Amino acid sequence: MSKKIAVFPGSFDPITLGHIDLVERSIHLFDEIVVAIGVNSSKKGLYSLEKRLEWLEEVFSKYDNVRIGHFEGLTINFCKEQKANYLLRGLRNASDFDYEKTISQLNNIIGKGLETVFLISQPEYSHISSTIVREIIKGGGDVSSFVPEFIAEEIEK
Ligand code: ADP
Repeated sequence: MSKKIAVFPGSFDPITLGHIDLVERSIHLFDEIVVAIGVNSSKKGLYSLEKRLEWLEEVFSKYDNVRIGHFEGLTINFCKEQKANYLLRGLRNASDFDYEKTISQLNNIIGKGLETVFLISQPEYSHISSTIVREIIKGGGDVSSFVPEFIAEEIEK
C-alpha cells in the first residue's frame, strides 16, 4: 500500500501555536506530513523565507515523520512532487470554511483526486492567526501566548 503523505501548506509568517496543534493532532493520521511554505514572489512576508523555514525546522525537529519544505506555484504540483495524496488544512471559523471549500474543490479537480483533510481548530487556538500575530508584533506587543516560547523570545530581541 502506498504511504499516506499529507502536505500542510501555508505562509507560516510566523508559525503559531494553532499550526502546531494542527500538525500534532494529525501526526497519527498520516505516515508523513510535509509542512511547506508556499512562496508568493509578489507578496513579501514579515519574516524571510529562511527565517520561517528555520523556525519550522526547530519546532518540528522532534517528529520523525514531519518534513519541512517550500514551493512556488501551484500547491498541487508540489503535492505531486512529494507524492502526497492529501492536503491538510485547519478551520477556525465560517470564513475559513467558505474560502477553503472552494480551494479544496478546485484542488480536487485539477489535482486529480487530491483530498483535503480539515481539522477544526481547538477552541483555545481558534482566535490565533498569523495575520493578527504580525499586527501585534508590528505594534510592539507581546506574542508569547500565540507562538512557541523560543520564537517569542527571538522576536522580542
Ligand atoms: P494562509 O495564509 O493560507 O492562511 P496560514 O499560514 O495562515 O496560511 O495558515 C495555514 C493553514 O493553517 C490554514 O489552513 C489555516 O486555516 C490553518 N491555521 C492557521 N491558524 C490556525 C489556528 N489557530 N487553528 C487551526 N488552524 C489554523
